[in-house]
Amino acid sequence: MTDLIAPSAGAVRTRFAPSPTGTLHLGNIRTALFAWAFARHHHGQFVLRIEDTDLERSSGASADGILRDLAWLGLDVDEGPYYQMQRMARYREVVAKLLAEGRAYHCYMSVEELDQLREAQRARGDKPRYDGHWRPENVAAHGLVPPPGRLPVIRFRNPDEGSVVWHDAVKGRIEITNGELDDLVIARQAPVGEVGVPTYNFCVVVDDIDMRISHVIRGDGHVMNTPRQINIFRALGQEPPVFGHLPTVLGNDGEKLSKRHGATGLDEYAAAGYVPEAIINGLARLGWAHGNDEIFTPAQLVEWFGLDALTPSPARFDAEKFEWLNGEHIKRLPIERLGERLKPFLEAADYALEGGPSPEAVGELLRDRAPTLKKMAEAARYCYVRPIVDAARLAELVGAAQQPALDWVSESLAQVTWERPALAALLKEAQTRFALKPPQLLMPLRLLLTGTTQAPGVDALLFTLGREEARARLAARPAA
Ligand code: GLU
Repeated sequence: MTDLIAPSAGAVRTRFAPSPTGTLHLGNIRTALFAWAFARHHHGQFVLRIEDTDLERSSGASADGILRDLAWLGLDVDEGPYYQMQRMARYREVVAKLLAEGRAYHCYMSVEELDQLREAQRARGDKPRYDGHWRPENVAAHGLVPPPGRLPVIRFRNPDEGSVVWHDAVKGRIEITNGELDDLVIARQAPVGEVGVPTYNFCVVVDDIDMRISHVIRGDGHVMNTPRQINIFRALGQEPPVFGHLPTVLGNDGEKLSKRHGATGLDEYAAAGYVPEAIINGLARLGWAHGNDEIFTPAQLVEWFGLDALTPSPARFDAEKFEWLNGEHIKRLPIERLGERLKPFLEAADYALEGGPSPEAVGELLRDRAPTLKKMAEAARYCYVRPIVDAARLAELVGAAQQPALDWVSESLAQVTWERPALAALLKEAQTRFALKPPQLLMPLRLLLTGTTQAPGVDALLFTLGREEARARLAARPAA
């Protein structure tokens, strides 16, 4: 195992830190999945933190949805949810500490002045950045006086020299010179003596320290926040955790995954009858691999997972492959679980479940034939609704030779033991007695039982429909 932290360095603690601004989409869930799998693999802890400081875009309903989605997927959380809005006093306390230590300072530059500064820098061909104008030494040297009535922000004093280097668990070594980083605003405007609302990059560091996070696994949209965060960690006397930035999930056309590629929200997949096992499997394969293993369970993922097998190049999401995987997981579900999961889809299709076969029985009949639970429920229509048999189609399939065979099957079904082997034997016997090839007998039976010839084995169909219903369907055969 080449994970970048030795087990002796302490317990593995990862976190998932979503912003509750909507429903979870596949890219977010993959981040959660890898953080969870890593913690589970190392017998560590998985912490959930809701980053709800964007008051306009955050909602309690979204946060609740995230909790529900994680539970549905089986990504169990050991600690949290922590809500950043409930930790404001703590962030302010840490800002005040940095201020007292001279590692942060008040800055009175207005937005307009900052814009002008950046404009001038751009005009000179420099990278636009705050220039440290209100650093205490400049205030002292130039006798700067705060403009009357203007409220200051608080900025973190970034180191001037050297560079920030980290060994990203996914991307490898990354080095950013401190000269490229300006002094980050860590608290918004407030009167001197008070601490304004702390900013995002700052809260994340305080949280990761307080929550003793050992590995920050997150999307690579955050790479540019990392050097700033590392400097804040160090200013607070802490060594930063291991960072691993996951490449973006793309659609199969190479563009960033979006609505254009079809469903991207977990809720949409759940509603379409995807099972959590398949979603986990499919997402894990986006940027991670274990040899050539295509189909695996969540437990196998946990057993095999390591950051060393993550690929730094963007992964492509393939909706068709996802559906195929779902079908494969449906085939492998224990039958009771398949029945439980199929039931709501059968109910949603408005079938009269009481009179018909159990969801388990339907699942057993169709589990190899439908890639999603929704499609399975659609295919199950004939299990609950008597088909209308197309007489012309039946006439094509039933010649003079088959009439007596169908009569014989109908009658024999009254007596036979209602088990699949006995039903299969009965169908074999009918073929021998009436000298019919299998399709000559089985096609008309399928049509009578289901209204279509594209249906599962006749013994399985009979068994699922039950003696009474099967016989009633055969009896409804239009007269020759
Ligand atoms: N709240 C951030 C997001 O949803 C995650 C921040 C982090 O993982 O450090 O993108």
